[in-house]
Amino acid sequence: MPLSPIPRGVYPSVTHISPRALAEKGIKLVLADLDNTLVPYKVTRPPAEVAAWKEELEANNIALFLLSNSRKPGRAREFARQLGIPYQGHSGKPKRAGYLQAMERMGAKPRETVMVGDQIFTDTLGANNAGVTPLLVEPIRLAGNPGRYIRYAVETPFRLLGKRRPFV
Ligand SMILES: [Mg+2]
Repeated sequence: MPLSPIPRGVYPSVTHISPRALAEKGIKLVLADLDNTLVPYKVTRPPAEVAAWKEELEANNIALFLLSNSRKPGRAREFARQLGIPYQGHSGKPKRAGYLQAMERMGAKPRETVMVGDQIFTDTLGANNAGVTPLLVEPIRLAGNPGRYIRYAVETPFRLLGKRRPFV
């Protein structure tokens, strides 16, 4: 659905998104946001549960790809290296280009791809722009920046609409 800010389901965390259920839907590629989706801001190491989720994705023939807007030099690269996955930093979400380049690199079509992220106006909107199914997760931690609470409040109607139509 182009230009829609509505996600397909809202999940408590990435590990609540079942790799097997994604595989049953024909998904081959998961694009994942970094900050507040896989780890809190400033955390540099992948937690064990994220590493286990990546392994379970791969066991279901699904690739995980880090699609981050982080402007911190080396942050996305270093996180992706530790997790053993490909990445794109400065990805320009919600513009389509980053999503399209990631799918081209990974040899996946939009209908075979989901985006997992915590922000409606970057992750979700961009995914819909690119024809990719957007899955929303609750932000790991809002504390630390007042702007995050304001953004979360503005996102709430879209979050509620998304809860009604989960993809998996
Ligand atoms: Mg984020």
